[in-house]
Formats: sequence, C-alpha cells, structure tokens
Amino acid sequence: MADNSFKGLAIGGKSLESDEAINFAARFEIEYICSNKHITILPFSAEAEIPPEWECRCGKIAYVNGNVTHTSKKKNNRSKSHWEMLISRRSEEELENNLSQRLKMLTSGKIHRGL
Ligand SMILES: [Zn+2]
Repeated sequence: MADNSFKGLAIGGKSLESDEAINFAARFEIEYICSNKHITILPFSAEAEIPPEWECRCGKIAYVNGNVTHTSKKKNNRSKSHWEMLISRRSEEELENNLSQRLKMLTSGKIHRGL
C-alpha cells in the first residue's frame, strides 16, 4: 500500500517571516466622517501629509472628524507644559474668571503677591 500522506512542509505553509521583528513606524489615526455619518479611521505615518478629505465607502466625501489619535507611545513621552495641563483641566472662560477674580483680590489688598 502506497503511503500517500504528505510529509515535510505543508502546502501553502506558514511564511518564515514573523510579525515580531516589524517595528511599526510612529503613526496617527485620523477619523473621517461623511454626510451619512459613516466613520472611517485611517492610520497614517507620522511623516505623512494628512489628506483633509477621503472618499467614504458609500461614495461620498468624508472629512476629518477632528479626532486625531496618536498611536505611537514613544512620541507621547514628552511631558506636557504647565499651560497644556491647565488648559486640559479648565476652559479658557474659567481661567479668565479666575484671573479677574485673583486680580481683584490682589488690587483690593485681600491677597499679596508672593515674593
Ligand atoms: Zn459614507
């Protein structure tokens, strides 16, 4: 009886290349939205020029939705400035109010400049 079983590498077997060695370049994910509210998220290399519009799967033109997600962790290591931290916690209106309140207190002598 002949041995019909295949031995060795499977036909259409796995590639010897592995994904592990691939270093993904820094990239952004850009969200596009069309007038039918279809959302398309596309990854772009950090160096790529981001197109302001994209053709949606329904054929309409989709525009950048304003949600730009940075997927590279390395680039996020830069620490935020005091201003960036402040503006992320408070609206400009709140800051404006706080400032005028503090200035009033300062000019009325309720608080003193810390020197
Ligand atoms: Zn669409």
